[in-house]
Amino acid sequence: MNTEHGTVSVNTENIFPIIRKWLYSDQDIFLRELVSNATDAIAKLKRLSQLGEADGLDNENYRIDVIYDNIAQTLTIQDNGIGMTAEEIRTYINQIAFSGAMDFVEKYKEKGAETTGIIGHFGLGFYSAFMVADLVRIDTLSYKSGSEAASWTSEDGMAYDMGPSDRTDRGTSITLTLSEEGQKFLSTAKIKEILNKYCNFMPFPIYLTDVAEAAQKANELKPTKDHVDAADIDAADEATGEAIHEDHTPQPINDTTPLWQKDPKDCTDEEYKAFFRKTFNDYRDPLFWIHLNIDYPFNLKGILYFPKSDNVYESLEGRIKIYYNQVFVADNIKEIIPEFLFLLKGTLDCPDLPLNVSRSFLQNDEYVSKLSSHIIRKVADKLNTLSKNDREQFEKYWQDIGVFVRYGMMRDDKFYEKVKEIALYKTVDKTYKTQEELGEEIHYTPDDKKQVAYVERAKARGLTVVVMDHELDNHYMSFLEYKNSKVKFKRVDADLGGETGDETQKEAVETLFRAATANEKLTVKMMALGADALPAMIVESEEARRMQEMRKQFERMGNGDDKMDFDSMFPIELSLVINQDQPLVARLKAMADLPQQKERAEELTRHVYDLARLGHGSLTAEELAAFLKRSATLLTDLAN
Ligand code: ADP
Repeated sequence: MNTEHGTVSVNTENIFPIIRKWLYSDQDIFLRELVSNATDAIAKLKRLSQLGEADGLDNENYRIDVIYDNIAQTLTIQDNGIGMTAEEIRTYINQIAFSGAMDFVEKYKEKGAETTGIIGHFGLGFYSAFMVADLVRIDTLSYKSGSEAASWTSEDGMAYDMGPSDRTDRGTSITLTLSEEGQKFLSTAKIKEILNKYCNFMPFPIYLTDVAEAAQKANELKPTKDHVDAADIDAADEATGEAIHEDHTPQPINDTTPLWQKDPKDCTDEEYKAFFRKTFNDYRDPLFWIHLNIDYPFNLKGILYFPKSDNVYESLEGRIKIYYNQVFVADNIKEIIPEFLFLLKGTLDCPDLPLNVSRSFLQNDEYVSKLSSHIIRKVADKLNTLSKNDREQFEKYWQDIGVFVRYGMMRDDKFYEKVKEIALYKTVDKTYKTQEELGEEIHYTPDDKKQVAYVERAKARGLTVVVMDHELDNHYMSFLEYKNSKVKFKRVDADLGGETGDETQKEAVETLFRAATANEKLTVKMMALGADALPAMIVESEEARRMQEMRKQFERMGNGDDKMDFDSMFPIELSLVINQDQPLVARLKAMADLPQQKERAEELTRHVYDLARLGHGSLTAEELAAFLKRSATLLTDLAN
């Protein structure tokens, strides 16, 4: 062919600003784009050969080579796919925004070929090469018989030269002469890293060659003396421990058949676990998983794993990996996947995703909303099956998945509806109950050790106490009460049960305690809690306490306002419950009436009050010190 010179024609708006924007956001993607193009080129050829349009190419050794030369500072991406004629270069490369893939689909759709998988999904991929190169060269030979090899070169992506090429094999190679910036950015390690991230599961084998490294290896392998025979090599081998006989055939960097592509019924547990460990670099086995595999009404394949967690929010980053026909797109695209699912780990291949539209547009896309509903349903179904078929196992999992389920319920209404009946509560006795099993009034403690006095009291009343100790739980309880107005959560120190006591005694007892504690505002309630219960306990109103907690959170969020007197707006409502069934109470009253025992009565009263505060966990350091000292004195007296 003759040489020709021209300028790339841009049909729609100028795309170079867009490419430059990528340049600053994510330089890695140029390699993904070029390797994807190579993959597409092979997929097209394979397809054509299956359709009988290209002969005998079914069982070719299809491959992609990425060749890095850090002396010449070039990077070449080479495939043995469909190739291009000069005319096709003019159409697909020179006329940007003329989607070559659309053209291909148009041409073959009548034949019923399943072509959606090869639509050029990222739009302007080829031009991203200019992110790292100041010269890009295409050498290509089309599969069509009688084709001539063609070349295309350009320094800026705008002006190009076309001419013949000495390429003799079918396929395309794209050679980038790296720009200064490209040289700084790239190294063998970096290239490996990018390929591992984006191309790990691409469908054709990708080989990475580092030219310098390859030359060095070849040198090392050369026998030093001509007459060295096999026996000598073996000996040398043993002496140096060098693996001379190791198989030096290069291995592809990718796994061309990721597990999610396999039929779920052909996958073993071991395969799922191994895939998890490899993909997420996680040494801990996942608890269980869901293999998604649907092709109607849309395509979706993937595996979602429920990881072992330490029951804390781990970082929400990098957990759900999104693929597009085995090409990695991004982690955690929240416009596609409901955010609460990021607590899981998984790979999702969504070949129907309209990835060329902006992310904000994705949020309103019908496909996307169907996709998330589907995933949510599958996850909820799995949890329901587990809970129904093996409650014991489900309870074991709860420690790890509980946060996920609770968070999901709060974040997604559909999910809430589907799992609300199976959601579990852990009791202080380490058993697990559903809301239905607990009833509408749910007694809880944020800390069963600190609140042991109250937990014991609740147990004595025959109540089940659940532990709500996650940072999520305050919101979760409010959320559940909001969803179901019959459900009411009560902290164990909000209600001690028992009968109301003898109100006629109240005034005298109150006076006694107010004097002993020098607290004029102390309120006392007379209750009959039983002779075995403690002589006094603190109760704290649930409502008032929650208001306090909200207030504190409000202040933590930086909304504190000095002018507002929160303390008087939301007073802490603590009261001292006196257990009149406990003999000590009557004794104290009697003692207080005798002048010579008045002082001792006051001391003991203070001690009873401190015991109540100790059980409540609200003694200050000074009060605790005084309490310990007084205990020692009282014990000494007792011993005497
Ligand atoms: P897209 O892949 O989204 O169509 P690109 O700019 O990446 O956009 O590529 C434009 C077109 O150039 C492709 O659709 C394809 O027809 C052609 N092309 C690019 N790379 C190759 C290749 N390695 N082999 C054959 N054709 C290619």
